[in-house]
Amino acid sequence: MGERGVIVFIVALVMWPIFAFAVGFYAASKGRRRLPWALLALFISPLIVLIILAVLSVSNEGLILAGKRKKCPQCGDIVPADANICLFCRSKFPSEQPKSDRFQPVRDEGI
Ligand SMILES: [Zn+2]
Repeated sequence: MGERGVIVFIVALVMWPIFAFAVGFYAASKGRRRLPWALLALFISPLIVLIILAVLSVSNEGLILAGKRKKCPQCGDIVPADANICLFCRSKFPSEQPKSDRFQPVRDEGI
């Protein structure tokens, strides 16, 4: 390995965990758990895990648990947590949701 090869190797070594960390954030943005996905990226390959995440659908359950989405009590569709009117059925949300009326999470396909 020449001097250039060593530099490329060191850069790749440094970039690998940074990309793995970024993959974790990407997973979180799709309603999935950040740490397991970041670790997966670290041990397998950030690129491969990124592709897996891109193919997987957004986990609405995860987004609801993260407080980013809520379920419309009228039509059952998923809307942003701060929405006042349902995007799908146009029904108005009460300004404050009672705790007992909270969405009951349904089983999703794993993490
Ligand atoms: Zn609705």
